[in-house]
Amino acid sequence: MIATRTPFAWGEADAEQELGPPLRRQVIQCALSRICGVCAESLGRPIAFLGTPEEAARNAFHCPPMHVTCAEDLRRHAGADPRWGITTTSGFELVRPGRDDADPDVRFEPNSLLQDP
Ligand SMILES: [Zn+2]
Repeated sequence: MIATRTPFAWGEADAEQELGPPLRRQVIQCALSRICGVCAESLGRPIAFLGTPEEAARNAFHCPPMHVTCAEDLRRHAGADPRWGITTTSGFELVRPGRDDADPDVRFEPNSLLQDP
């Protein structure tokens, strides 16, 4: 099951350890190739993002896009952030931080939010 495997965008992390931030290179690959950050298969719609309440409020997510079912699996991962919620969208923008950006990490801005699943 996916929940016990290392999600694609988290690379080498052990299945039981805290997930921490996803790997930048894999995150960008997910965005450009439109693949899921957990299973690395092609994304359709809706697209799910996992984020804290702060990320949801800013509409800026640091986890890569995922299938809804993969996002639900990842929320149950032993190392998942307990504050994570799921936001669904039918599209998103990849935002690369500028030099003066207060947030130095690559992030995603969903641009057509859907109702909660
Ligand atoms: Zn997936």
